[in-house]
Amino acid sequence: MASSSGKKKDKGPEKVYVQDSESDDDGVELSFFDFSQETFKPTLNSCDDPFLNLLCDESLLRSGIDRMRADTSQPESNETEHPHFNEVGVEYRVHDPSMAWDQMRPVLGDYYESTEQLKFALTNYAVKNGYQLYFEKRDRIRVIAKCGKHSQDALPCPFRVAAGWKYNERTFQIKSICETHLCARNYNFGSLVTSTWLAKHFLNDIIMKPKLSLVEMRFSIHVSMGQCQRARVEARNLLEGKLEEHYARVWDYAAALLQSNPGSTCKVGVHVNPGGVNYFRRFYVCFKNFKDGWIRGCRRVIGLDGCFLKGHVKGELLTAIGRDADNHVYPIAWEVVDVENIDNWNWFLELLVDDLDLGSGNGLVVISDQHTGLLGAVSQQLPYVEHRQCARHIFANFRKRYTGLELKNLFWEAAKSTVEGDFLVVMEKIRTITKAGYLQLMKRKPHTSCRAYFSPGFSCDALEKGISESFNSMIIHMRKKTFDHYARGN
Ligand SMILES: [Zn+2]
Repeated sequence: MASSSGKKKDKGPEKVYVQDSESDDDGVELSFFDFSQETFKPTLNSCDDPFLNLLCDESLLRSGIDRMRADTSQPESNETEHPHFNEVGVEYRVHDPSMAWDQMRPVLGDYYESTEQLKFALTNYAVKNGYQLYFEKRDRIRVIAKCGKHSQDALPCPFRVAAGWKYNERTFQIKSICETHLCARNYNFGSLVTSTWLAKHFLNDIIMKPKLSLVEMRFSIHVSMGQCQRARVEARNLLEGKLEEHYARVWDYAAALLQSNPGSTCKVGVHVNPGGVNYFRRFYVCFKNFKDGWIRGCRRVIGLDGCFLKGHVKGELLTAIGRDADNHVYPIAWEVVDVENIDNWNWFLELLVDDLDLGSGNGLVVISDQHTGLLGAVSQQLPYVEHRQCARHIFANFRKRYTGLELKNLFWEAAKSTVEGDFLVVMEKIRTITKAGYLQLMKRKPHTSCRAYFSPGFSCDALEKGISESFNSMIIHMRKKTFDHYARGN
């Protein structure tokens, strides 16, 4: 232990405890505490080093440095309570970057991998406690942080942390610290809180809630809207860097599904590039219990639909939804795809036909919207299926040009007709009102959405794909998550 007021460069009431006499080769400027001029009571440091704890003990400060030297030569009886202390020497705490941000605080001797990591931890500590930290020095080999740069208090805050790079261990270490604060808490942090810090701070929140509002970001920290905006952009850039990780987990997720659901179908489709790099294309899942249940006890009716995935990963979800004996939603299979097109629908239906043994579609009803890729794939994979088109979808297109309550009522009267004659009479009424509208409806094959033309025996008179849309809205929160989340099981 070295002590010298001559080496003390910082003026004022600052009090610093020094861990060790460091050699000059680490380029760290150390500050030393002058015990002879002691006038204030330090707080007790809770360090894992018994020597340092003794150093911070008030009674020892009073009794002088010689006694302290003598005491440290005799290990304390409760030495076993310090897991980082061993007979070879003192083992200091290695900073854990995954710890909760509001638990971070500088401790003498802590190891950090870089100045950036130390700065991030100190900023967390300052934000949590409302300390006005600033960095007097911050470069590749040293960091000196102090408190209360613009403080109006009579006494300047004595808090100070000095850390330096240890060349032999290639590690950053806190080499001296004064933990006492005399400053008033202030949550306006100025330049301490940067958009980069905000981006890291809110990264997990943005993963869980991609549309995290700027107001929510400002809820706990006094920063400008502009900073929040920049932080959100930076956080998304950080996430983009993690996209590869998300997609890399698709194989783990598929393996986990098959392990816990033997007999299920789980397929991953990729784009194989000439360079040997594979890009995600599609991912199909059909659980064994779902397919067995559908074959055994569900109506022979399947709703096919595509919806967008939320969150930063994007992509679309194709689903096959059945109706059970109670006419309730029964999920059968789903596929995550890069885009909804005929190729992906073909792949989906090919696997679905295999799983449910649908043959060419005889004795089966499919209800869907009029997506071109979907219509093409159904006609290729299930040529004999009774393909009902969602009446609401047809009406949504019709009303774009032909508005009015009369036409709306006539449209639904035609769709809900249970006899062909009624259907034709109502369609004639539409023709007298608007011939162009009538022709547009006839071009859309209105009989595919009219009950009069539905085959009996399916116990299902549904003329819209409401059951698929109900399922899509039920899983709205899951649509925001990524394979990485699923693979981790949350
Ligand atoms: Zn302070």
